Amino acid sequence: MNTKTFEVIIIGGGPAGMSTALVLGRSRIKTLILNTENPRNIVTTHSHGFLTQDGKHPSEILTIAKKQLNKYSAAIYRIEKAISLKSTANGFIVETENATYESKKVVIATGHKDNIEDIGIEGLAAVYGKSVYPCPFCDGFELADKKLAVIGDAMMAPMFAKTISHWSKDVIVFTNGEQVLDKDTIVNLKMNGIQIIEAKIKKLHSEQGILQFIELEDGKLIERDGGFLPDTKSTEYTDFAESMEISREVGFMGMETYKVTENKETDIKGLYIIGDARTGWSGVASSVAEGSEVGATITHQIIEDNWKN
Ligand SMILES: Cc1cc2nc3c(=O)[nH]c(=O)nc-3n(C[C@H](O)[C@H](O)[C@H](O)COP(=O)(O)OP(=O)(O)OC[C@H]3O[C@@H](n4cnc5c(N)ncnc54)[C@H](O)[C@@H]3O)c2cc1C
Repeated sequence: MNTKTFEVIIIGGGPAGMSTALVLGRSRIKTLILNTENPRNIVTTHSHGFLTQDGKHPSEILTIAKKQLNKYSAAIYRIEKAISLKSTANGFIVETENATYESKKVVIATGHKDNIEDIGIEGLAAVYGKSVYPCPFCDGFELADKKLAVIGDAMMAPMFAKTISHWSKDVIVFTNGEQVLDKDTIVNLKMNGIQIIEAKIKKLHSEQGILQFIELEDGKLIERDGGFLPDTKSTEYTDFAESMEISREVGFMGMETYKVTENKETDIKGLYIIGDARTGWSGVASSVAEGSEVGATITHQIIEDNWKN
């Protein structure tokens, strides 16, 4: 197997990785981008909130990104799955099924995946990304003033319902068999017109992904048009960050994130992590921003490395 050498390898070509590739391509830095083309939001019908691309399908955004990247010959795009990442004395080795690549720098941009089946509610996967979503900023506008459900545990669902009530005044919290123990929370939600249903959910009924009814254990049907999940049981798409033992820290809203320096580098020299892979949830616009920043940082570092003093 021939080893091919690049200055930078980007693993993952979602909004974060493609944005890094664009900056590096324009900086004429020999870059390889490996992508399995399965971004986290592929299940959704429309991606929202990213200026100029609002309402486009995620695959359409990828198609445009690939077309624009194609102009910059220094950035090579491959539909290939990275299966291992290891550090060496000079940098890193990335293996795919058919090739071995090496580089001085690696950007991990492999994202997160949602594990909806692990929530254990029949019919939930069928509505995920079609009428039940994880993020109100992404899809709240489309569900505004509808009959909404917030489905989650007794701690997170009531808190999330407060946010969702900004988009609709008809919100019911479903804790799926868990009891809300905090009496203040119950009173507070009631004051704001939000009902809590603690019964176990038997099944979600939908038509072509659009939620119709939530069936409770006793057979009662509650009409709902859509809803939100505070917790999608998401996990890292790959174990590269973990296997490289990148340090972690507590980030936004108590979520665990990987620690990076002001140069967006991890505590391993030449290794960067961006987008959902770093934070657990970044959204498209922030992933693009982070990818762009890392592209510029790496360019500055390479200029510095090549400068004679
Ligand atoms: C249902 C749903 C709706 C959403 N709607 C919105 C929205 O409207 N607006 C918004 O801003 N955000 C939305 N999001 C969030 C958004 O999808 C993520 O925050 C964003 O995609 C993160 O970008 P990323 O580049 O970090 O990761 P991703 O977009 O997930 O990209 C990661 C890429 O890495 C690839 N990859 C993974 N492992 C490997 C490997 N081993 N080798 C090669 N490639 C690999 C994957 O195939 C994928 O292409 C939504 C999420 C979901 C689940």
